[in-house]
Amino acid sequence: MDGEVMRTPLIAGNWKMHKTLTEARELVKGIREGIEGISGVEVLICPPFQHLLPMAGAIDGSPIMLGAQNAHYEPQGAFTGEVSVPMLKDAGCTHVILGHSERRQYFAEGGPLLAKKVRAAVAGGLNAIFCVGEILEEREAGRTQAVVERHISDVIRADVPAERLIIAYEPVWAIGTGRTATPGQAQEVQAFIRSMLASTYGQAMADAVRILYGGSVKPSNAADLLAQPDIDGALVGGACLVAADFAAIIKAAGIRAAASS
Ligand code: PEP
Repeated sequence: MDGEVMRTPLIAGNWKMHKTLTEARELVKGIREGIEGISGVEVLICPPFQHLLPMAGAIDGSPIMLGAQNAHYEPQGAFTGEVSVPMLKDAGCTHVILGHSERRQYFAEGGPLLAKKVRAAVAGGLNAIFCVGEILEEREAGRTQAVVERHISDVIRADVPAERLIIAYEPVWAIGTGRTATPGQAQEVQAFIRSMLASTYGQAMADAVRILYGGSVKPSNAADLLAQPDIDGALVGGACLVAADFAAIIKAAGIRAAASS
């Protein structure tokens, strides 16, 4: 890890539009049981808006943190169907995922809007998990670094506090496809992101910001991915919907954290 720089790993579960309330309660119960005794890892669940309040109750007394999958940039107003940062804070959220590729693809979210969302989230006291990553055609055209650089520079302003910012590198071709970036491919891009953060925003920011990998992370590949020096955790989709799988990924991060402390 960059010499002496230590960053606490974060394993975040993006539930997307999955789970009834009964299933959600079952899942959290299983995660709580599965992570007993694991330390040195931050654990986050990001259920649909509908389940935030009941899940805040379900995680009470556990180390699990609560996040949302999106937020509006205004604190209130006539924005039918939207949810604001103060509302998420009210519900017990500490984190929000912004700029997920599914939001970019299906809801046409892009740089200017995401810049407002990230600013509103951190100003409102949430930690922003900001997602970046290339589609397959961009990778094949050798444009991966240019794409992630643009995603970051379009949105991240120099005044974003490093402790409130988490970047998730999620190659779109690896999301929900079962096709994972190799640890080497992920590390190469994540090291690039860190060097870009250092040259654009300063070394302190680059050292402090955690960079997660996301894209078909599962128990069988988590340890190898998390062993990479610039992979500070994972944003997990499919595997976070199965308590035993999510707990196994968290355990892999705990083993990694213990080895490097
Ligand atoms: C995601 O949705 O952020 C994700 C990484 O999904 P999956 O783990 O299913 O690829």
